[in-house]
Amino acid sequence: MEAAGRLAAALSGARRVTVLTGAGLSAGSGIPTFRGAGGLWRNFRAEDLATPEAFRRDPETVWEWYEMRRAAIAAARPNAAHRTIAAWSRRYERFALVTQNVDGLHEDAGTLGVVRFHGSIWRVACADGCAEGSASTGAGACPPEGWEDRRVPLPERPPRCPACGGLARPGVVWFGERIPGETLAAALDAASCDVFVVAGTSALVTPAAGLVEEAQGRGAFTAEVNPEATPATVSVDVAIAGKAEEVLPAVERMIAERAAER
Ligand code: NAD
Ligand code: ZN
Repeated sequence: MEAAGRLAAALSGARRVTVLTGAGLSAGSGIPTFRGAGGLWRNFRAEDLATPEAFRRDPETVWEWYEMRRAAIAAARPNAAHRTIAAWSRRYERFALVTQNVDGLHEDAGTLGVVRFHGSIWRVACADGCAEGSASTGAGACPPEGWEDRRVPLPERPPRCPACGGLARPGVVWFGERIPGETLAAALDAASCDVFVVAGTSALVTPAAGLVEEAQGRGAFTAEVNPEATPATVSVDVAIAGKAEEVLPAVERMIAERAAER
C-alpha cells in the first residue's frame, strides 16, 4: 500500500481536490460497468443501445434496457468509495466531483459539488416536440432540460412527453452526443486543483479522459484507482491497482493516521 500512502500524503497537504469517477465506482454497489463482466444485455453491447441511432431505430428496446438498469440502480446503495468521496467533499476548501455515472449514488452519499457529465438515469426528456422542432407536436412546449421521474417501472413504455405527447427519451448523454457547455466548463474549471484523483473509469471516453491530462498540465498531483491498467495508468503520478471501495477508505484511514501523528 505504498502507492496509497503517497496519495494520502498528497491529500493531507491539499487545499483544492478534484475527483473524476466512472462506472467502476458503482461496481461495488452491484451496478455492472459497460465494458466489464455483466456488461452485455441480450447480446447487445451498451455501445449499441446508448446511442441516438439505436433510439431512432428501436425506442422500445432501448427503454426496456433502461428500465432494467433503473430497477438495478433503485435497489443499489452507495458503497464505501462513495462515502469516502462525500467526506472529502465536506473537508477541502475547494472540492469538485466530476462523474460519468448516471446512477445518482454520489448525491445519495451526500457529496457536495457534483458535476454530472452524462446526466441522470432518473431524468426523462422529450425526443419529439421541441427537440425535433416539429410544429405539429407543439414545438417549444416541452421542457428542454427534461423532467425527473423515479417510478420503476414507468407506467408507460416508452414514456410520453407531458407537454406534446411525443416520444420521450432517457435524460442522459449518449455516445456521440455533446456534453452541455456549462458542464464542460465546470469540469475544466475543476481541473485546476492540487490533487486530482481518477477512480473507476477506463479513461477511454473523451472528454472525461482528457481531464486528467489537463489537471496534470496545470500542476496537479494525479492519482488513479482502478483494478485494471488504463491509458491513464502510465501518466499519473501514482497508480493504485485495486477496487475503489477498498482503496479509498484505506487512503482515508491513512489521512486520519497522519493527522493524529501531528
Ligand atoms: P467503463 O465500463 O468503460 O469502465 C469501468 C472501469 O471501472 C474499468 O476501467 C474497470 O477496470 C473499472 N472498475 C471495475 N470495477 C472497479 C472497482 N470495484 N473499483 C474501481 N474501478 C473498477 O465505464 P466508464 O469509463 O465509466 O464509461 C462508460 C460510460 O457508461 C459512462 O459514460 C457512464 O455514463 C456509463 N455507465 C454508467 C454507469 C453508472 O451510472 N453506474 C454504469 C455503467 C455505465
Ligand atoms: Zn415534448
